[in-house]
Amino acid sequence: MEQTMLHIQQFSFALEGNSILDGLSFSLAKGEYLSVIGPNGAGKSTLLKCLMRVHEHGTSRGEIRLKGRLLSEYAQRTLAALVSYVPQAGGWVPPFTVEELLRLSRYPYLAAGGVLGKTDQEAVKKALYLTDMHMLASRRLTSLSGGERQKAFVAAALAQETEIILLDEPASFLDPKHTAELNRLIRVLHREHGVTMLTVTHDLNHPLCMEGKILVLRQGRQLFFGQTQEMLRKNILEDAFSHQFICFPHPGTGRPTLLAKE
Ligand code: ADP
Ligand code: MG
Repeated sequence: MEQTMLHIQQFSFALEGNSILDGLSFSLAKGEYLSVIGPNGAGKSTLLKCLMRVHEHGTSRGEIRLKGRLLSEYAQRTLAALVSYVPQAGGWVPPFTVEELLRLSRYPYLAAGGVLGKTDQEAVKKALYLTDMHMLASRRLTSLSGGERQKAFVAAALAQETEIILLDEPASFLDPKHTAELNRLIRVLHREHGVTMLTVTHDLNHPLCMEGKILVLRQGRQLFFGQTQEMLRKNILEDAFSHQFICFPHPGTGRPTLLAKE
């Protein structure tokens, strides 16, 4: 039987009395890929933050379970060894070098004293090479371009070697070449390493080429959860974005491709 990695049941979340997420319910099996889409302010980032327990002051209802266990019951270290998170770019960055950031991401595995062992060093090295960041390992994050910085955070999430990775708009700041490289890396992690992934994206064609499920949010509500074909058939996107889209087969791959109408 396939293992349920994430189970969300009637989950609602409010900040200072304002409802931000309202009655979300969906499940992901181990190794599944979920694209989270929806207009600005729909609650996409908040959902990922709730999964990371970074919101301390909010009130929530319903439940979130990881591997059958309530999220609230996890010790912080155990959670950090299970889920890694690449936040939406554009915020503050810590005053570390790329390599220091990756070494810090190994903290859930370190014994008292915090010394990195051989396994930790190998995980850091592997993540640097997989993301092609080894050349920039000793550069400070503050000195990097937006795209390089983004890749450094993706590398840190990889070095954490978790079963679940949450990515919040990982391709923002990336040019087309680096976006394609990132998508290739995401596919490798998902297909070859069996990582369960939740990716927030504004690229509506991302879920169409990712073979996974889609969650569509609007104003904190779940408009749709399921397969791409069903979403296209039901014209969910028109509802979600209050805009018309054209769907046509990609001339190269034949895959359905979306374009916003002018
Ligand atoms: P998205 O990522 O889909 O663009 P967010 O999850 O960032 O949306 O935000 C959803 C809603 O929650 C928005 O209306 C936003 O203003 C509100 N919100 C987000 N963070 C906070 C916060 N810390 N305090 C109050 N409101 C917030
Ligand atoms: Mg967001």
